[in-house]
Amino acid sequence: MTEPLLRVRDLKTYFVTEQGSGTARAVDGVSFEVQPGETLGIVGESGCGKTVTSLSILRLIPEPPGHIRPGSVIEFEGRNLLTLEPRELRAIRGNQIAMIFQEPMTSLNPVFTVGDQIAEAAIVHQGLSRRVARTRAIDMLRLVGIADPEERVDHYPHQMSGGMRQRVMIGMALVCHPKLLIADEPTTALDVTIQAQILELLDRLQAELGMAVMLITHDLGVVAGSADRVAVMYAGQVVEQAPTAALFARPLHPYTEGLLASVPRLDAPPAREHGRLHSIPGQVPAATAWPDGCRFHPRCPYAWERCRAEMPPLLDAGGEGEPGTHTVRCWLLTEPRRRTPHP
Ligand code: SF4
Repeated sequence: MTEPLLRVRDLKTYFVTEQGSGTARAVDGVSFEVQPGETLGIVGESGCGKTVTSLSILRLIPEPPGHIRPGSVIEFEGRNLLTLEPRELRAIRGNQIAMIFQEPMTSLNPVFTVGDQIAEAAIVHQGLSRRVARTRAIDMLRLVGIADPEERVDHYPHQMSGGMRQRVMIGMALVCHPKLLIADEPTTALDVTIQAQILELLDRLQAELGMAVMLITHDLGVVAGSADRVAVMYAGQVVEQAPTAALFARPLHPYTEGLLASVPRLDAPPAREHGRLHSIPGQVPAATAWPDGCRFHPRCPYAWERCRAEMPPLLDAGGEGEPGTHTVRCWLLTEPRRRTPHP
């Protein structure tokens, strides 16, 4: 295997809450790697730590109240981002690692044209002149599939639809040809047809530009067609990690099973309970009060005493590939006969 582009090891990002209700352990010992050119999907409900993970990678956590705990490691091309000087970090952020967010209207500045906003990154990071950067902005608008880019470059965000604004955001993120794009719920605010177009666009650009993508979403359906591997997060931890095909064919963590059962499928009738689509009962607990033992136990249909008392480590699930290719944080791996849901 090649050297990973990004290596995250035992990342812990905590927040001290103002209400004095304790420390929120939003990300609590997360490890994963992203290889050059691959797409890693990070999936989980809101509140499970996905976004805090991505903001930690870019060191965009507001400190205080947040802090990344000593012992955490975030390496990009072998350099520990957590020990870089602010100047060195700025040279990486937006240039070699770029990010797009869920809501393009709040991420774009309403008082500047989209062309100026795309050009700005190229001027700041690559030292281009205004004239060259404007040409680059037009090229980016064309690359992301916006018609009449020579005209659109002078438009303001409010003159564009939501789907076009998200394309502009992607153009802005890619103008410096980053090696890693972090896309945080890039399609959630868009309607379904536009969602599919944006995902297709990301796939195409990834193939053309050879960048790696971290695709963060609450929707397993979004990663199904796009990601090479998937890390499922729950309560600040990775609970299952596997190549996408293996995860869909053989989900082993009960939380992953629940997420998969909530994805509507065309080839099979949806699982229904009392006439509703299957969903996981309950909610992600507050990050100030993760349950003892396995953090999923209050919502898990298989939980037994051991689950309530002992936190399972990430266990190797075997299967195809090298050891550690498919890992699962669940005691069912050691006691498979327990896989009988309680009535
Ligand atoms: Fe469920 Fe126990 Fe596995 Fe946790 S360890 S997911 S509670 S079976």
